[in-house]
Amino acid sequence: RPKTKEEVMERVRELDVRFIRLQFTDILGLIKNVDIPAEQLEKALDGQVLFDGSSIEGFVRVEEADMLLRPDPQTFAVFPWQEQGEGATARLICDVCHADGTPFEGDPRGTLKRVCAEAAKLGFTMMVGPEPEFFLFLREPDGRPTTKPIDQASYFDLGPVDRGEECRRDCVLALQKMGFEIESSHHEVAPGQHEIDFKYTDAVAAADNIATFRFVVRTIAIQHGLHASFMPKPVAGVNGSGMHLHMSLFRDGENAFYDPSQPDGVSPLLKQFIAGLLLHAPAYTAICNPLINSYKRLVPGYEAPSYIAWSERNRSPLVRIPARRGRSTRIELRSPDPACNPYLALAVTLAAGLDGIKRGLTPPPAVNRNIYAMTPEEREAEGIGMLPQSLRDALVALEADPVIREALGEQVYRRFVEAKSIEWEIYRSQVHQWELDQYLSIF
Ligand code: ADP
Ligand code: MG
Ligand code: MG
Ligand code: MG
Ligand code: MG
Repeated sequence: RPKTKEEVMERVRELDVRFIRLQFTDILGLIKNVDIPAEQLEKALDGQVLFDGSSIEGFVRVEEADMLLRPDPQTFAVFPWQEQGEGATARLICDVCHADGTPFEGDPRGTLKRVCAEAAKLGFTMMVGPEPEFFLFLREPDGRPTTKPIDQASYFDLGPVDRGEECRRDCVLALQKMGFEIESSHHEVAPGQHEIDFKYTDAVAAADNIATFRFVVRTIAIQHGLHASFMPKPVAGVNGSGMHLHMSLFRDGENAFYDPSQPDGVSPLLKQFIAGLLLHAPAYTAICNPLINSYKRLVPGYEAPSYIAWSERNRSPLVRIPARRGRSTRIELRSPDPACNPYLALAVTLAAGLDGIKRGLTPPPAVNRNIYAMTPEEREAEGIGMLPQSLRDALVALEADPVIREALGEQVYRRFVEAKSIEWEIYRSQVHQWELDQYLSIF
């Protein structure tokens, strides 16, 4: 991957790239881009391309309309589906700045960089490996997406080659061409549900990868006549789509979560990180599970967490310590879903873990039994709380947590809560089909 402006210019000439997409992500996690012809690239790399930010949802106030995009040379990648023939297109992920070049407080990538810098002050680099799940659905003849899965296969099934597997394989190939190191890909539990896992990297690159991943998978699915959905719970009664986050802290190139002198091989730091993740779980849920629909996934019975607990083996709690040790020593946070803004999700979860470390917190005892089989009294006795049950509850919890609010920064916090409160108000004033089915004939 190119590291400098000169290296990017060199690659552009070599690969005959004609168009560059300058990409960034808004607060709601949607990719935005400005297209420039290759001739303008040098100017862009020198930080001279301004754009009108006022048109972007939840992004800036009108008086801050002129924004500057500062491309990160290391994010250079050519879109594999446009590489042949004339007009190859490449992208660069950008930091968003004010017109005078200072970082814009409403840029989620900037938010994550700021929290990573806090970690760096303590000597840590956070490494993240995500496990995004998604559905491949059929489209109507007119192109509208349905919730009809393309297959009836299930977990790890090796079916006859169907359109789902072909599409997933093409996603993997496209991602590899864009520089992803794919570790595995497989069919998930629900019909039409898939997972593609890629290798962990530092937090900013991991968030870039997640944003790119969603975009690539959607694009390839369209080419197969399918719709790729990252909606957390598109079909009631079957598993929803999560995006488990595997996280570790490295210090001086070594995994600081690994400690061979401990009986369980994990360092006290890892336990403190877990304590922070549990303590702040109610508050970061709004960020990691940002849709009304997200809360329909966080219910018992579908392998998604609904209680705040951790475990060494069991896969049902919020946080798990996978068995691998050495450089792979890590924690797995199981609540996030693939609709989240990856920059903000990594910023708040890192801030939560760091708070545990800074304050030297001790987590409650591990829960190695099935939490769903426990009575409310037993859960109470073990200090096991619940995750917020709705976006509304999650926003209330976010409001009450200064650590998570500070990690987001005032601007992102306000814009996010504003946008999500509107979403909630619209939702709660609807009359849903379920209510009609349930009440209309009786009352
Ligand atoms: P699961 O067992 O939950 O299905 P997977 O094996 O599918 O987990 O995914 C494991 C993820 O953890 C991968 O993305 C991998 O790169 C990542 N990983 C491995 N070591 C580390 C580490 N030290 N820090 C963060 N992530 C890691
Ligand atoms: Mg996996
Ligand atoms: Mg897995
Ligand atoms: Mg999975
Ligand atoms: Mg997992």
